[in-house]
Amino acid sequence: MSRDINNKYWDEELETLPREELEKRQLADLQEIVKFAYDHAPYYKRSFDEAGVKPEDIKTLKDIQKFPFINKTTQRDTQGVGSFLGELAAVPEEDVVFISTSSGSTGVPTMSPFTKKDFDEFQDTESRWFWQIGMRPNDRYVHALNFSLYVGGPDVIGAQNLGALCIWGGTLPSERLLFVLKTYQPTVIWTSPSYAWQLGEKALKSGIDPKKDLNIKKIIVAGELGGSIDATRKAIEDIWGAEVYDFYGLSDIFGACAAMCEAKDGLHIAENHILVETVDIHTGEVLEPGQVGELVFTTLRKHARPLIRFRTGDIGRIDTTKCSCGRTHGRIHILGRKDDMFIVSAVNVFPSDIEAVVREHKGITGEYLIRIFEKDFTNKYAVEIEKSADNPNSDDEVAAEVTAALKARIGVKPARVVVHPDGGLNTRSEHKSKRVIDERNLDYNI
Ligand SMILES: [Zn+2]
Repeated sequence: MSRDINNKYWDEELETLPREELEKRQLADLQEIVKFAYDHAPYYKRSFDEAGVKPEDIKTLKDIQKFPFINKTTQRDTQGVGSFLGELAAVPEEDVVFISTSSGSTGVPTMSPFTKKDFDEFQDTESRWFWQIGMRPNDRYVHALNFSLYVGGPDVIGAQNLGALCIWGGTLPSERLLFVLKTYQPTVIWTSPSYAWQLGEKALKSGIDPKKDLNIKKIIVAGELGGSIDATRKAIEDIWGAEVYDFYGLSDIFGACAAMCEAKDGLHIAENHILVETVDIHTGEVLEPGQVGELVFTTLRKHARPLIRFRTGDIGRIDTTKCSCGRTHGRIHILGRKDDMFIVSAVNVFPSDIEAVVREHKGITGEYLIRIFEKDFTNKYAVEIEKSADNPNSDDEVAAEVTAALKARIGVKPARVVVHPDGGLNTRSEHKSKRVIDERNLDYNI
């Protein structure tokens, strides 16, 4: 590795391309991939023909708007049809070297195939993100993400290719992981935000002060929204005395779609790989950059299974202005999953907004559980929290304070705030926590 470790960019030319040049490259890749998809993936041939569009119709980036959307259901319906890889795949199976699969938490797991080139480019992008947050060859890195099937597993190879000393931690039990952190003194770790926070708490309870006894300088989080919530990131940073960065990947594409830089103002998206659109959640109408809507991605370089206008189900906005770090690739700001959003009194409520309030509020532990339910044919929500052991206020006082804070932030107050004692909520699960319970169509005793 002959890279200058003092250069802040992994690939300076690519990362600082003037937008005009970046968009020129995007257009050339878009034209190529849409044609490749049409010529080789049976699904695209059929759907483009039905929509009356042809690859040659793409003369500018905006022309992608003429093409039909696909979504998770398209993947499920075409998987295994005609061949093992299905009708969205555009290469024969012998060209595929790796598949990852989705968790299947919302239905049949979908698989994402990679050619060798797709996989190498995925890892090069991951190296770029690691470099972007300051990882260098002299870092020791613990990859504490699931390795089984999950697209975030192979991200560790990006750190290894960068030259860091890598420890393939996987989903170790917390005692064992703390042992690794204490014994090997790694400087960077990647895990889920809820687990990063809980691991810090567990360390303190077992007599290890993460700030003094461990050497973690940077924490990467992904897989849940917490890393994009300032209050959650701050809570994790306070426990660890480390910088926290949010990364974003999709099992449908790869584990390296977007990542924060030192400015922590949104996540830079790899625009050389992904063309981003934002569309109205209900109508699919394309929105202007900066407007909040569903993020729609077109993969520009992934040949095993190109995704043309894939509705991600994530709600957010894109900012294409130049970042203070000097990078020109746009930044996405993610608000939450479309499926997680619920509507109360005509207001869109994201669990992430509730989390932000609970994490910012003093005198409570930051643990929470949200219940969504129906009462008198309308949606309501309740929030359960834990009062900190040293908070002298009564439960009623704490509930009133949190109710007011939620009303101020979200616009609609919760039907109820339930206060538990410290440690009273069963939400401290390892690695990924379930914090939203949808009880709609059940009656709730309020
Ligand atoms: Zn930046």
